[in-house]
Amino acid sequence: MSEKRVIIAIDGPAGSGKSTLAKRVAERLGFIYINTGAMYRAVALWALQLGVGLTDMHRLEQLAKEAGIELTRDGRVLLNGEDVTDAIREPHVSDAASQVSAVPGVRRALLGVQRGLAEQNSVVMEGRDIGSVVFPDAQVKIFLDADPAERARRRALELQDDAIAVEGDLRQRDERDRGRAEAPLVQAPDAELVDTTGLSPEEVEEVILRIVRARTSNGKGAKRHDEQGAVRAD
Ligand code: C5P
Repeated sequence: MSEKRVIIAIDGPAGSGKSTLAKRVAERLGFIYINTGAMYRAVALWALQLGVGLTDMHRLEQLAKEAGIELTRDGRVLLNGEDVTDAIREPHVSDAASQVSAVPGVRRALLGVQRGLAEQNSVVMEGRDIGSVVFPDAQVKIFLDADPAERARRRALELQDDAIAVEGDLRQRDERDRGRAEAPLVQAPDAELVDTTGLSPEEVEEVILRIVRARTSNGKGAKRHDEQGAVRAD
Protein backbone atom coordinates (compact mmCIF):
# COMPACT_ATOMS: atom_id res chain seq x y z
CA MET A 1 0.00 0.00 0.00
CA SER A 2 1.31 3.47 -0.81
CA GLU A 3 2.50 5.41 2.18
CA LYS A 4 1.17 8.88 2.73
CA ARG A 5 2.09 11.49 5.29
CA VAL A 6 -0.99 12.89 7.01
CA ILE A 7 -1.06 16.27 8.71
CA ILE A 8 -3.73 17.11 11.23
CA ALA A 9 -3.71 20.81 12.11
CA ILE A 10 -5.41 21.84 15.33
CA ASP A 11 -5.69 25.56 16.02
CA GLY A 12 -7.60 27.65 18.50
CA PRO A 13 -7.35 30.06 21.41
CA ALA A 14 -5.83 29.29 24.82
CA GLY A 15 -7.88 26.91 26.94
CA SER A 16 -9.90 25.55 24.02
CA GLY A 17 -8.56 22.06 24.71
CA LYS A 18 -5.96 21.88 21.93
CA SER A 19 -3.15 20.22 23.85
CA THR A 20 -5.30 17.61 25.56
CA LEU A 21 -7.05 16.70 22.33
CA ALA A 22 -4.08 16.88 20.00
CA LYS A 23 -2.18 14.52 22.31
CA ARG A 24 -5.08 12.06 22.55
CA VAL A 25 -5.71 12.04 18.81
CA ALA A 26 -1.99 11.56 18.06
CA GLU A 27 -1.90 8.62 20.45
CA ARG A 28 -5.00 7.04 18.93
CA LEU A 29 -3.64 7.33 15.40
CA GLY A 30 0.01 6.59 16.15
CA PHE A 31 1.06 10.00 14.82
CA ILE A 32 3.67 12.34 16.28
CA TYR A 33 2.28 15.10 18.50
CA ILE A 34 3.80 18.55 18.08
CA ASN A 35 2.99 21.46 20.34
CA THR A 36 4.14 24.61 18.54
CA GLY A 37 3.13 26.85 21.46
CA ALA A 38 5.90 25.17 23.47
CA MET A 39 8.42 26.42 20.89
CA TYR A 40 7.30 30.05 21.21
CA ARG A 41 7.27 29.61 24.98
CA ALA A 42 10.84 28.26 24.96
CA VAL A 43 12.11 31.24 22.94
CA ALA A 44 10.26 33.61 25.30
CA LEU A 45 11.75 31.90 28.36
CA TRP A 46 15.24 32.19 26.92
CA ALA A 47 14.70 35.90 26.20
CA LEU A 48 13.52 36.44 29.77
CA GLN A 49 16.49 34.51 31.17
CA LEU A 50 18.93 36.58 29.11
CA GLY A 51 17.17 39.86 29.79
CA VAL A 52 16.48 40.43 26.09
CA GLY A 53 13.77 43.07 25.64
CA LEU A 54 10.51 41.67 24.26
CA THR A 55 10.44 44.46 21.70
CA ASP A 56 14.01 43.82 20.49
CA MET A 57 13.00 42.18 17.21
CA HIS A 58 16.53 41.59 15.98
CA ARG A 59 17.78 39.82 19.13
CA LEU A 60 14.56 37.82 19.43
CA GLU A 61 14.93 36.58 15.88
CA GLN A 62 18.52 35.59 16.64
CA LEU A 63 17.40 33.68 19.73
CA ALA A 64 14.70 31.86 17.76
CA LYS A 65 17.29 30.83 15.16
CA GLU A 66 19.82 29.67 17.75
CA ALA A 67 17.50 28.01 20.27
CA GLY A 68 17.92 24.26 20.51
CA ILE A 69 14.35 23.20 21.14
CA GLU A 70 13.49 19.53 21.52
CA LEU A 71 10.06 18.06 22.05
CA THR A 72 10.55 14.59 23.47
CA ARG A 73 8.24 11.66 22.89
CA ASP A 74 7.21 11.63 26.53
CA GLY A 75 6.04 15.24 26.34
CA ARG A 76 9.04 17.06 27.84
CA VAL A 77 10.39 20.28 26.35
CA LEU A 78 14.14 20.85 26.28
CA LEU A 79 15.75 24.23 25.64
CA ASN A 80 19.46 23.96 24.81
CA GLY A 81 19.48 20.60 26.57
CA GLU A 82 17.74 21.82 29.74
CA ASP A 83 14.31 20.55 30.75
CA VAL A 84 12.00 23.59 30.74
CA THR A 85 8.68 21.74 30.61
CA ASP A 86 7.36 23.32 33.83
CA ALA A 87 9.11 26.68 33.53
CA ILE A 88 7.44 27.49 30.18
CA ARG A 89 3.95 27.02 31.66
CA GLU A 90 4.36 29.93 34.10
CA PRO A 91 1.82 32.72 33.37
CA HIS A 92 4.51 35.37 32.81
CA VAL A 93 6.06 33.11 30.15
CA SER A 94 2.64 32.68 28.45
CA ASP A 95 2.39 36.43 28.21
CA ALA A 96 5.98 36.79 26.95
CA ALA A 97 5.38 34.01 24.39
CA SER A 98 2.45 35.90 22.98
CA GLN A 99 4.63 39.03 22.60
CA VAL A 100 7.59 37.16 21.13
CA SER A 101 5.37 35.30 18.66
CA ALA A 102 4.26 38.57 17.08
CA VAL A 103 7.82 39.15 15.80
CA PRO A 104 7.96 38.13 12.10
CA GLY A 105 11.59 36.93 12.29
CA VAL A 106 10.77 34.65 15.21
CA ARG A 107 7.84 33.15 13.31
CA ARG A 108 9.99 32.65 10.22
CA ALA A 109 12.64 30.79 12.23
CA LEU A 110 10.15 28.46 13.90
CA LEU A 111 8.13 27.90 10.73
CA GLY A 112 11.10 26.14 9.14
CA VAL A 113 11.52 23.90 12.17
CA GLN A 114 7.81 23.08 12.26
CA ARG A 115 7.66 22.16 8.58
CA GLY A 116 10.81 20.08 8.96
CA LEU A 117 9.31 18.05 11.79
CA ALA A 118 6.49 16.89 9.56
CA GLU A 119 8.64 16.15 6.53
CA GLN A 120 8.94 12.43 7.18
CA ASN A 121 6.14 11.90 9.66
CA SER A 122 2.41 11.96 10.04
CA VAL A 123 1.72 14.53 12.73
CA VAL A 124 -0.91 16.16 14.85
CA MET A 125 0.34 19.72 15.17
CA GLU A 126 -1.34 22.26 17.39
CA GLY A 127 -1.00 26.03 17.54
CA ARG A 128 -2.56 29.21 16.21
CA ASP A 129 -1.57 29.25 12.53
CA ILE A 130 -1.03 25.60 11.61
CA GLY A 131 -3.97 25.33 9.21
CA SER A 132 -3.63 28.89 7.91
CA VAL A 133 0.16 29.32 7.46
CA VAL A 134 2.34 26.37 8.47
CA PHE A 135 0.40 23.71 6.55
CA PRO A 136 -2.23 25.38 4.38
CA ASP A 137 -2.58 22.05 2.52
CA ALA A 138 -3.09 19.89 5.62
CA GLN A 139 -5.64 17.13 4.97
CA VAL A 140 -7.37 17.76 8.28
CA LYS A 141 -7.88 21.17 9.87
CA ILE A 142 -9.71 21.63 13.12
CA PHE A 143 -10.42 24.91 14.87
CA LEU A 144 -11.21 24.32 18.52
CA ASP A 145 -13.04 26.96 20.50
CA ALA A 146 -14.99 27.23 23.74
CA ASP A 147 -16.86 29.79 25.75
CA PRO A 148 -14.32 32.26 27.32
CA ALA A 149 -15.52 31.53 30.88
CA GLU A 150 -15.07 27.78 30.35
CA ARG A 151 -11.63 28.26 28.81
CA ALA A 152 -10.62 30.34 31.84
CA ARG A 153 -12.05 27.74 34.24
CA ARG A 154 -10.01 24.95 32.56
CA ARG A 155 -6.82 26.97 32.62
CA ALA A 156 -7.40 28.06 36.25
CA LEU A 157 -7.79 24.41 37.24
CA GLU A 158 -4.52 23.59 35.52
CA LEU A 159 -2.68 26.50 37.17
CA GLN A 160 -4.57 26.20 40.48
CA ASP A 161 -5.39 29.87 40.18
CA ASP A 162 -8.44 32.08 40.33
CA ALA A 163 -10.68 31.84 37.22
CA ILE A 164 -11.48 35.55 37.14
CA ALA A 165 -7.80 36.55 37.08
CA VAL A 166 -7.02 33.87 34.50
CA GLU A 167 -9.88 35.04 32.26
CA GLY A 168 -8.35 38.53 32.08
CA ASP A 169 -4.95 37.11 31.10
CA LEU A 170 -6.46 34.81 28.47
CA ARG A 171 -8.51 37.63 26.97
CA GLN A 172 -5.45 39.84 26.65
CA ARG A 173 -3.38 37.06 25.08
CA ASP A 174 -6.16 36.10 22.64
CA GLU A 175 -6.65 39.70 21.57
CA ARG A 176 -2.92 40.00 20.89
CA ASP A 177 -2.84 36.67 19.01
CA ARG A 178 -5.89 37.54 16.91
CA GLY A 179 -4.84 41.13 16.26
CA ARG A 180 -1.21 40.73 15.17
CA ALA A 181 -0.21 41.39 11.57
CA GLU A 182 1.83 38.21 11.08
CA ALA A 183 -0.02 34.86 11.12
CA PRO A 184 -2.84 35.91 13.44
CA LEU A 185 -5.03 33.36 15.20
CA VAL A 186 -7.76 32.71 12.65
CA GLN A 187 -9.96 29.84 11.56
CA ALA A 188 -8.79 28.70 8.12
CA PRO A 189 -11.67 28.74 5.62
CA ASP A 190 -11.49 24.96 5.20
CA ALA A 191 -11.12 24.19 8.92
CA GLU A 192 -13.90 22.48 10.86
CA LEU A 193 -15.03 24.47 13.89
CA VAL A 194 -15.47 22.32 16.98
CA ASP A 195 -16.99 24.07 19.99
CA THR A 196 -15.79 22.17 23.05
CA THR A 197 -17.96 24.05 25.58
CA GLY A 198 -19.65 21.51 27.85
CA LEU A 199 -18.02 18.54 26.11
CA SER A 200 -15.72 16.01 27.78
CA PRO A 201 -12.31 15.26 26.24
CA GLU A 202 -13.68 11.84 25.22
CA GLU A 203 -16.56 13.46 23.35
CA VAL A 204 -14.32 15.96 21.56
CA GLU A 205 -11.91 13.17 20.65
CA GLU A 206 -14.71 11.24 18.96
CA VAL A 207 -15.82 14.33 17.02
CA ILE A 208 -12.26 14.94 15.82
CA LEU A 209 -11.69 11.30 14.87
CA ARG A 210 -14.90 11.39 12.83
CA ILE A 211 -13.60 14.43 10.95
CA VAL A 212 -10.23 12.73 10.43
CA ARG A 213 -11.92 9.62 9.02
CA ALA A 214 -14.08 11.69 6.70
CA ARG A 215 -11.12 13.69 5.38
CA THR A 216 -8.58 10.93 5.02
CA SER A 217 -10.76 8.03 3.80
CA ASN A 218 -10.29 6.32 7.15
CA GLY A 219 -6.63 7.25 7.36
CA LYS A 220 -5.78 4.31 5.10
CA GLY A 221 -2.22 4.31 3.89
CA ALA A 222 -1.15 6.95 6.40
CA LYS A 223 2.31 6.70 7.84
CA ARG A 224 2.22 5.67 11.48
CA HIS A 225 4.83 5.30 14.18
CA ASP A 226 5.34 2.34 16.43
CA GLU A 227 6.37 2.46 20.09
CA GLN A 228 10.05 2.65 19.21
CA GLY A 229 9.43 5.70 17.08
CA ALA A 230 10.17 3.96 13.80
CA VAL A 231 8.06 4.96 10.87
CA ARG A 232 5.88 2.18 9.59
CA ALA A 233 3.11 1.92 7.05
CA ASP A 234 -0.26 0.25 7.52
O1 C5P B 1 -0.51 27.20 22.69
P1 C5P B 1 0.10 28.02 23.78
O2 C5P B 1 -0.91 28.73 24.63
O3 C5P B 1 1.09 27.27 24.60
O4 C5P B 1 0.94 29.15 23.01
C1 C5P B 1 1.61 30.19 23.68
C2 C5P B 1 1.64 31.41 22.77
O5 C5P B 1 2.46 31.12 21.64
C3 C5P B 1 0.30 31.83 22.20
O6 C5P B 1 -0.40 32.74 23.03
C4 C5P B 1 0.67 32.47 20.88
O7 C5P B 1 0.98 33.83 21.05
C5 C5P B 1 1.95 31.76 20.49
N1 C5P B 1 1.73 30.78 19.41
C6 C5P B 1 1.69 31.26 18.11
N2 C5P B 1 1.58 30.39 17.08
C7 C5P B 1 1.49 29.07 17.30
C8 C5P B 1 1.50 28.57 18.62
C9 C5P B 1 1.60 29.46 19.66
O8 C5P B 1 1.76 32.46 17.89
N3 C5P B 1 1.41 28.25 16.26
